[in-house]
Amino acid sequence: MTDAASPAVPGAAASPAVPGTAAPAETVAFAPAGGTGGPGASAGSPPAGAVAEVLGASPAVPANAAFPTRSPASKPRYWSRQSPPGPWDTIVIGSGMGGMTCAAILALLGERVLVLEQHYVPGGFTHSFTRRRYHWDVGVHAIGEVTEKSLSGRLLARLAGPGLRWASLGPVYDSFDYPGGLKIDFPDSPEQFRANLVAAFPQERDGIDRYLSMVRDAARAMRGFYLARAAPPLLAPLAEWWMGRKARPALELTVRDATARCTADERLRTVLAAQWGYYGAPPSRASFGLHALVVRHFLHGAWYPVGGAQEISRGLLKTVADRGGWTRLQADVQEVLVERGRAAGVRLAGGEVLRAPRVVSAAGVLATARRMLPESCREAAWTRELEGLRPGPAHLCLYLGFKGDIRAAGAGSANRWFYRTWDAEEETWRVDGWQGGSPLPEAPVLYCSFPSLKDPEHDPGPEQRHTGEVVTFAPWDAFSRWRESGWRKRGEDYDRFKADLQARMLAQFFEHMPALKPLLDFVDLSTPLSTDHFCRPVAGSIYGLEPTPERFRCARLRPRSPIPGLFFAGSDVASGGVMGAMGGGILAAIAARPWDTVRLLRGV
Ligand SMILES: Cc1cc2nc3c(=O)[nH]c(=O)nc-3n(C[C@H](O)[C@H](O)[C@H](O)COP(=O)(O)OP(=O)(O)OC[C@H]3O[C@@H](n4cnc5c(N)ncnc54)[C@H](O)[C@@H]3O)c2cc1C
Repeated sequence: MTDAASPAVPGAAASPAVPGTAAPAETVAFAPAGGTGGPGASAGSPPAGAVAEVLGASPAVPANAAFPTRSPASKPRYWSRQSPPGPWDTIVIGSGMGGMTCAAILALLGERVLVLEQHYVPGGFTHSFTRRRYHWDVGVHAIGEVTEKSLSGRLLARLAGPGLRWASLGPVYDSFDYPGGLKIDFPDSPEQFRANLVAAFPQERDGIDRYLSMVRDAARAMRGFYLARAAPPLLAPLAEWWMGRKARPALELTVRDATARCTADERLRTVLAAQWGYYGAPPSRASFGLHALVVRHFLHGAWYPVGGAQEISRGLLKTVADRGGWTRLQADVQEVLVERGRAAGVRLAGGEVLRAPRVVSAAGVLATARRMLPESCREAAWTRELEGLRPGPAHLCLYLGFKGDIRAAGAGSANRWFYRTWDAEEETWRVDGWQGGSPLPEAPVLYCSFPSLKDPEHDPGPEQRHTGEVVTFAPWDAFSRWRESGWRKRGEDYDRFKADLQARMLAQFFEHMPALKPLLDFVDLSTPLSTDHFCRPVAGSIYGLEPTPERFRCARLRPRSPIPGLFFAGSDVASGGVMGAMGGGILAAIAARPWDTVRLLRGV
């Protein structure tokens, strides 16, 4: 997911001019509609009995006989640049985690679902790419709650099938370094987490216990809040009042105020908020309810998909394809068609119209409202209310390729967070003042991940090839002036800016992990414009809308839009993160097919 080429770093190779994420073009022979569809090829919902069939193993719709396509060297794919003929029960815009989850659930409920993805690879932020035989993921470093012990883990296993397997990051999944030498590990058990906090702040035992208890209570209350959001319009106010009432105080509280209730120790407060990078709002703006969900998410550790992040889409989109659906790539949705007041399908760039009685947009609520709704709907009160919400932060990522023993050089499967400051409000790297040649400040934090050490199936080969990713937040405004220029053709000043950023970030990274420097073989930098080009979130935001109290107060932010037949899925509907976006997909399915989805959930 990187853009302009040529690193200004000695010893590191320039990136090739080919798009690294490209899957080779596939030749797909579609079976005629009659041959693929059987009963499920007809539009509309299947009869009620079909759900029982779905909850068992047998598909309500026969698999698409012509699929999957397979090129000799690659794994099966359930996507291509063409799609079989309709009719479709549901069109899903965007193949990120939210879209794929919703599509897979509806497919299991017997629907023929067409997923439309503008990129040439599916998965949204869960896609992977390769350059010079190095393999990276874009937005997957650590995921919690994927085992059979949690409902989300069991559901994901049901939706993605046995092909999706997980590898634990080990007894420590995140390791934090603060100025002055404080180092603290976040481990894979709640007891050890408490013990590590108490060991670092022995005088603060009571405050730590109070904090952990607040986290437990708030996280527990959040389920009711989210379920209320999926309620049908007539019941919504009552559902929100009743089911959301326990979460409301935690949602209104900021993380800064919540931690201040537990301890006066500023450094402990900073450590308690250390993982704010997983949801993208600093403590003074982040809602404690959401923070609590993220803390609970990781209480039992973190995992990585065996084989890399692309395995997630392979599993989920196989389920869609097995039920007669398909995923079409390079399908850029320009407009949601609204006819006689209800969603009727979409218009792609180039003019092609695809119809379905239900459209689920998983491309971001703000992006949908701003870019895809017909002009007449963009001025509606509900879209204007959504416009008042802020997107979360954009990011920079160094994609690194190493040759050699990176484990011996200090890398491991745990993520490393190198904080340069104790001020948790220093949220983003202030690069907006850059003028060609001016020195850049240091980034407040670097988040470092070594995916090849997380994946038990990674084969380093004789050269011992390994990968690293180094992430930090950066302001969108520092990059937006180049937005209209083309990918890899943004001009000399942009290339210079990028080279300066890359050199500064690398230097800062090697200050912390110097033994890796001689092993560096490849480097490239992605900027918020790369994110914009490949995934298109508003303002390059990596987690969707900022998780503030205002966001959770906004009653318009729900999976069912005021336009009949139009639904929203993805992180905006629930929360950022892979499992957060999955939650957004589940909520969209509940809003669209309440009883059947709840029955499916009960069965896992
Ligand atoms: C650097 C980084 C690190 C991260 N690390 C982690 C982590 O370790 N753990 C974790 O849980 N989460 C992590 N995340 C966050 C997580 O990846 C995301 O929150 C989640 O995957 C978002 O899913 P989504 O479905 O909401 O959106 P997306 O994945 O953004 O999917 C939206 C999709 O819609 C498509 N689209 C947009 N417009 C159109 C259009 N007009 N027509 C057709 N398609 C369109 C996009 O191309 C995209 O595929 C990270 C993210 C980033 C960027």
